[in-house]
Amino acid sequence: MAEYDAVVVGAGLLGLSTAYHIKKTNPQEKILVVDKMGAAGQGNTAKSAAMFRSFFYSHTNLALVDTTIEFFKHVQKDLGADLKLKWVGYLWLFNDEDYRWAEPVLTVMAERGLEYRVYNAHELSEKLKLRTNVTKDEDSKLMGLADVEAGILIPKAGSIDIDSLVNFYESEFRRLGGEVRYNTKVESIVVEPREPLGTPGEPYFWQEAGASGIKTNRGVIKAKRTIVAAGAWTASLLDSVGVDAHIKPVKRQLFSVRAETNELKKLLWAKGFNSEGCVPFTILPKPRVYLKPALEENSFWFSYGDEFPRAFRLEDEPQPEENYYQYGIYQVAVKYFPQFAGSRPFTSWAGLYAMNTLDGQPVIFEEHDLLVVGGTSGSGNMKADAIGRIAASLYAGEKYAVLYGDKKFRVSDLSINQRKVEPEKLII
Ligand SMILES: Cc1cc2nc3c(=O)[nH]c(=O)nc-3n(C[C@H](O)[C@H](O)[C@H](O)COP(=O)(O)OP(=O)(O)OC[C@H]3O[C@@H](n4cnc5c(N)ncnc54)[C@H](O)[C@@H]3O)c2cc1C
Repeated sequence: MAEYDAVVVGAGLLGLSTAYHIKKTNPQEKILVVDKMGAAGQGNTAKSAAMFRSFFYSHTNLALVDTTIEFFKHVQKDLGADLKLKWVGYLWLFNDEDYRWAEPVLTVMAERGLEYRVYNAHELSEKLKLRTNVTKDEDSKLMGLADVEAGILIPKAGSIDIDSLVNFYESEFRRLGGEVRYNTKVESIVVEPREPLGTPGEPYFWQEAGASGIKTNRGVIKAKRTIVAAGAWTASLLDSVGVDAHIKPVKRQLFSVRAETNELKKLLWAKGFNSEGCVPFTILPKPRVYLKPALEENSFWFSYGDEFPRAFRLEDEPQPEENYYQYGIYQVAVKYFPQFAGSRPFTSWAGLYAMNTLDGQPVIFEEHDLLVVGGTSGSGNMKADAIGRIAASLYAGEKYAVLYGDKKFRVSDLSINQRKVEPEKLII
């Protein structure tokens, strides 16, 4: 006999959002969330840069992000949970070649009602003391940097306090009667035949079988449906039952540099971009190193999403690499922003993206009573609410999910077998 209607593996943002929406639509059902960590949101959710933007070319991405951001606004304004939303905006810097390529894409986006403002190189250099003509310098040429031609500012974008968001979903889930168990590590998915015969070694290949719960370090937990929302650890659970979610772990690192000098303070509090009166989240033209204003700690967070030859590797505690800042990020950043000369990070950390290797967009599918939610590829926080709703609709067997603001979304679009996602043209 199943103890639970559903057990959710993973109390990260996706597991919690999924559990909350399932419980909300099925209040009578017994739903349990388990996590190997001691509290909610301690996996890669806690490592995030916590940024969001409602500015994507792909209709798929835009639907997931925009409805989630609208939900965040609703939570903060109407439900009284302070998510500490800061509308700092995204400032995306382009070199001339990329800008020429992006212009028609941006025009289409403007026609769809997405807002942005264009800044020319002169304005950027005035407002931010940004060096826009970096290629005058031999080192920059050697490093393949590019001059800044223009910047586009996306106003519907900013940062969120991830702990507060995790808190919101976890406490609402519990308030509805959902259960959570921490320090509970799932060792494997339990698979049983639908009609057990009692023969040893079941199920045999001729028997119809499905997931019937989880084996954990604290015993077996039986459930009618098992939901895997284990982020970067997803494949480590699914591989052993032959389910491929096309999710691979890849390390991402963040370095925090304090605004200690007057020049850095001026940059952090650069005016004329947003209501916070600070520098926007800024993405350099080439390579696309990014800088986040972390206002509450008077610092800048730096990161860069490297590809080849970065390994797909699962690590429980990935470490930031000193040289990655010193010989990587710093060397690029200081060419564009000389204000950072001599700066060193006061803290740094690393986490794992759960990369969906099909198209970089989330996967939500079910086979053999095993529902999988993940593959958010570095944008899971800003899509968390929509993903939870789509997973809850899949759980309920519905064809369409209704996202926040009554937007309909076809559930199978994020599946593996009937996948239908629009490719993203504007990739950071
Ligand atoms: C450095 C970095 C920066 C990022 N920046 C952004 C950003 O700015 N904006 C944005 O939207 N997204 C960002 N992301 C991505 C975002 O953090 C993720 O998409 C999101 O947190 C994924 O949530 P999740 O619930 O799938 O994963 P997680 O938070 O990792 O949750 C998975 C949970 O499963 C648990 N688990 C795994 N295996 C087991 C097991 N065997 N037994 C029990 N429990 C298990 C883990 O302990 C974990 O708590 C960033 C990610 C990183 C690493």
